[in-house]
Amino acid sequence: MTSQKPSELPVRDAESACIEREIGRIRGAERGPTLIAIGGIHGNETAGLVAGRRVLDRLTAANVTVRGELVVFGGNLAAIRDKVRYHHKDMNRLWVDSRIEALEARTDESSLDSEDREQLELLGKIREAIAAARGPVFLVDLHTTSAAGVPFVIFGDTLPQRHFVTELPLPIIFGLEEQVDGVLSEYWTRHGCVTFTVEGGQHDDPGSADNLEAVLLLAAQAAGIFRHGAIAETRPAHALLESRRGSLPHVMEVVRRHAIASEDEFKMEPGFRNLDHASEGQLLARDKRGEIRAPANGLVLLPLYQGLGADGFFWGRAVGTARLFASEALRNLKLDRFIDWLPGVERDPARPTRLRLDARIARFYPADVFHVLGYRRRRELDGELTIERQPG
Ligand SMILES: [Zn+2]
Repeated sequence: MTSQKPSELPVRDAESACIEREIGRIRGAERGPTLIAIGGIHGNETAGLVAGRRVLDRLTAANVTVRGELVVFGGNLAAIRDKVRYHHKDMNRLWVDSRIEALEARTDESSLDSEDREQLELLGKIREAIAAARGPVFLVDLHTTSAAGVPFVIFGDTLPQRHFVTELPLPIIFGLEEQVDGVLSEYWTRHGCVTFTVEGGQHDDPGSADNLEAVLLLAAQAAGIFRHGAIAETRPAHALLESRRGSLPHVMEVVRRHAIASEDEFKMEPGFRNLDHASEGQLLARDKRGEIRAPANGLVLLPLYQGLGADGFFWGRAVGTARLFASEALRNLKLDRFIDWLPGVERDPARPTRLRLDARIARFYPADVFHVLGYRRRRELDGELTIERQPG
């Protein structure tokens, strides 16, 4: 999968390295799904653009029947041009309905910063692609990370999204997307798309573009853009991602976030990969209160080694096939209808996918009660504990 060098960016003018908003598209004569891929939402992460270009080229060269449409967009073009993550605001934290409404209502152009403009333009392009769709719409957001590590997939826990991401042999992680607000993929799930976000490896590692290319090719197949097996390269793509995963479980979930503050003097033990096994009692980190050890056999996710952050690490565990099937069965039974019968649990009348919890009572429920039905977004709202799931 290394036929091209990652330096071959889709540019319209090599001199200014001016990336186009639309990297390219293939629209098949047959009706079918639309797959929207986005690269470079963070301007220093260009591997996704390379991957998008390569997959478009591959589909053209393979001369297969394309059903529906594959379209690839560049994210934060101004930041890509200046080789920075962003100028004023992180463009993967801005996808909130109220913010977007306010942005669209603004009449004074001069009050917009560069990310506001980028977001409005990208928003318009994605809406156009959705409006032109002749089938279900899928959206994939392609990223890379500053530290080296195993590529992985993050997604909001809905059944259609589960089905989509489990076709990828990379580690797929439940409960991580819900830890932050304003993520692009989460916004588009809310607006009817089937989405995921993928971290493809380290920013400048040529292998990252290969990983993301493999992910996008398999995602296109999973979405139904071409018939299963119609493109021979899907086989090596699958093998590549499987080898990247190594001994890690296929499906993992976040059990707990280890939040930190600067006064905690948190220090992660050296040697953990971005996703790694840990055995019960193993030393994970230290802070001013002492040692932090693994509570059981499980997984350390995204340990904090560089820079500042509010997350020391996430504690996770593998999710076996039996548990996946069980939770799917429970959801198909629509047990969600009864969850607010539990004492201390009340459905938010303004948003039926959100539960208000009486913290004194709800803390006695195991988190599984909520997780199994897709409720993973836990927040304090006006002093009240809430837990929310995606619609659908
Ligand atoms: Zn990123």
